Amino acid sequence: MAVLDNLAIIKENISEACKRSNRRYEDINIIAVTKYVSCERAQEAVDAGVLHIGENRKEGLLNKRQALSDDKVIWHFIGSLQSRKVKDVIDHIDFLHSLDRLSLAEEINKRAKKTIRCFVQVNISGEESKHGLKESELEDFICRLKDFESIKVIGLMTMAPFTDNEQEIRQIFRRLKERQTYIQSKNWEHAPCTELSMGMSNDYQIAVEEGATYIRIGTALVGKDE
Ligand SMILES: *Cc1c(COP(=O)(O)O)cnc(C)c1O
Repeated sequence: MAVLDNLAIIKENISEACKRSNRRYEDINIIAVTKYVSCERAQEAVDAGVLHIGENRKEGLLNKRQALSDDKVIWHFIGSLQSRKVKDVIDHIDFLHSLDRLSLAEEINKRAKKTIRCFVQVNISGEESKHGLKESELEDFICRLKDFESIKVIGLMTMAPFTDNEQEIRQIFRRLKERQTYIQSKNWEHAPCTELSMGMSNDYQIAVEEGATYIRIGTALVGKDE
């Protein structure tokens, strides 16, 4: 299906979710996750008006950056980032969704030539396979980030477990929202923490209802090449 058609469905779903939860549609940013698809397909997303593009690997990011023709594109790195790859990607991204350790913060601070807007990744579900900090570690971790002038903590990110239990997913998103509100209430200058990166193809409607401001959509928007 054309990206434009998928996008129309997604926008409609977001709009419905906003109505159900009394939120404003303008507060939701759609990130097209293009890691499964070609540069041509990614360009289709940009042409459809989705200017936020997300990749989870260095190679994918650099390829897409070279190929896409629109200087208004905003680049998101959504995968876990190895410290040794920071120098190759950091000046090519606007947002990082996976800040999860001090050693990574240190490396970013050493390499970045501009301020990087970061989401701190939280492993709310506690699944072993998932990256991210425990909720109990979050406050101390974010407090320590004040020493790194290139890092601005704009919000929190999580991934829900892969399940069709809607209640379980909703609880995870709700807990991330609670943590975000709490950190925001600290009024730390380096960590305004006003944003929530949560929701993917299977659960973005729930995420919107629970307060997401950035949703990361791959399959449902651009599809998946085999
Ligand atoms: C791949 C990926 C997505 C998008 O997944 P879909 O289910 O295809 O929408 C979102 N977030 C992260 C961190 C990902 O790695």
